[in-house]
Amino acid sequence: MSTYRTQGIIIRRSNFGESSLILNVYTKDYGKIEAVARSARKPKGKLKGHLELFLLSDFIFAYGKSIDRIANSFSLENYENVKNNLNISFGAYYISELTDRVTENGYKNERMYYLFKETMDFLNSLCVDDALKYYLAIIQYQINVMQLSGFFPEINKCVICKEDITLEENAFSFSYGGVAGKKCVCNDDSAIDIDNDAIKIMRLLQIDKRDANIYRNNIKNNIKIISKLKVKKKTIFQLIRLMNKFIENNIERKINSVVFLRVV
Ligand SMILES: [Zn+2]
Repeated sequence: MSTYRTQGIIIRRSNFGESSLILNVYTKDYGKIEAVARSARKPKGKLKGHLELFLLSDFIFAYGKSIDRIANSFSLENYENVKNNLNISFGAYYISELTDRVTENGYKNERMYYLFKETMDFLNSLCVDDALKYYLAIIQYQINVMQLSGFFPEINKCVICKEDITLEENAFSFSYGGVAGKKCVCNDDSAIDIDNDAIKIMRLLQIDKRDANIYRNNIKNNIKIISKLKVKKKTIFQLIRLMNKFIENNIERKINSVVFLRVV
């Protein structure tokens, strides 16, 4: 039996047949893997209880003809706080669905793995009343997952006239995909107002993806920034809604769990 081993987090889990599961696992070394876990729902199945959503594990996959199989898994982190706290788990559902939607099976992207894992670690460290940090973590995820997927909104120059954005009155144009001066969007029905604070946050939390070696450190720095940032709730909600719409427009799919975030 030919196998391979890697760490990964379960981002999607669905029942398959009478007693099996189909899992999407975002892995460090192979990107997203869809695999079947046979008999995992049988009371005495070897993998029963080891394949919960959001579990970070060391997986052994066996190559299969049409789909690979989970041969074994060893839990490394079960994100207890995320699991036991409904509100925090909503954020984990959202970033998991987002990751699942923007990725294809079998494309390694270590930056994506670390972005997901570091964000999960941070969510797991939060208390129930850390709502501001929780929402900022979601925003930094939205921004950087899109950056890694090649869809980043223009935030430095007006997306229409290409002049530098001044922090006066600005709008966000969904048809052009970026920030524009208010006077440039008179005929653009897709444009909505955007606060200058929202533009500043986008600039602050966007990670330069070019250097793979320091990417993980940059995410950790982002998390430190988030822990100290003071932002109005209105700006945060505006940014999450805006980024979610930008994401849905670009990937042409709905992210269903956005309703869990209670910002729409
Ligand atoms: Zn302009």
